[in-house]
Amino acid sequence: MTLKSKTALVTGSTSGIGLGVARALAREGADVVINGFGEAGAIEAARAAIESEFGVRAHYSASDMTKPAEIAGMVREAEERFGAVDVLVNNAGIQFVSAIEAFPGDKWEQIIAINLSSAFYAMQAAIPGMKRRGWGRIISTASAHSLVASPYKSAYVAAKHGIAGLTKTAALELATDRITVNCISPGYVWTPLVEAQIPDTMRARGLTKEQVIDDVLLKAQPTKAFVTVDQVAALVLFLCTDAASQITGANLSMDGGWTAQ
Ligand code: NAD
Repeated sequence: MTLKSKTALVTGSTSGIGLGVARALAREGADVVINGFGEAGAIEAARAAIESEFGVRAHYSASDMTKPAEIAGMVREAEERFGAVDVLVNNAGIQFVSAIEAFPGDKWEQIIAINLSSAFYAMQAAIPGMKRRGWGRIISTASAHSLVASPYKSAYVAAKHGIAGLTKTAALELATDRITVNCISPGYVWTPLVEAQIPDTMRARGLTKEQVIDDVLLKAQPTKAFVTVDQVAALVLFLCTDAASQITGANLSMDGGWTAQ
């Protein structure tokens, strides 16, 4: 498969799954727009590495996924710079762990904005160009939490269930436009997002780090192994192939058997 002459935009791609997905798309020849927060030098190093390793163009957008106008601007800028957004990967996401009674309202709003609404606004901006060109792939990083819940993750679980519904709706609306819309639902992938929630879970449940990893995180994952970023990226690449043209509206689990239980 080659994505030469295609452009991909991956939200939340300065680290973790998003960066792995952006690098995989670039390895297949796509020009890529990366997005997200972080230390400026590290982001520039990641962007420049994509260009030098894969011989494609890579652009960094600092757009904030809580701001609809910035999301639309990011898509417009990508189209102006590279001529298209052929592959949109809605991946930006944050987590916050707390009982509902203590869950800060601003954290709820922020998670719904980044993990759910940003995908809606990015789709809204990218779909007209995909329709004009008669081809598109919209792929969102959902989560096992789009299918099942865990305690203390109310906003995250609500947002991820929302992504699964948005995916189905968009797939139906675009079914005859050669644009497929799917989401991928990983179990636990070892990334900074997972690492960062360990201290909160230790506090919320009174556990050691080892207990959080073995008894909370991987408790639900029957294979007792973390999913890898490269495995998620490989599924994104497959969804971009012609072989996947009839996969649309799907919520594809990659969770070591978690949601089979
Ligand atoms: P990560 O923390 O490594 O990456 C998150 C990315 O989102 C970063 O680039 C960050 O800068 C960006 N981001 C955060 N707030 C933003 C904002 N307001 N605007 C723009 N970018 C913003 O996390 P990750 O584990 O790679 O997670 C990526 C996605 O995968 C998320 O949607 C997450 O919910 C999902 N996911 C992760 C796991 C896992 O176990 N790691 C499992 C299932 C689903």
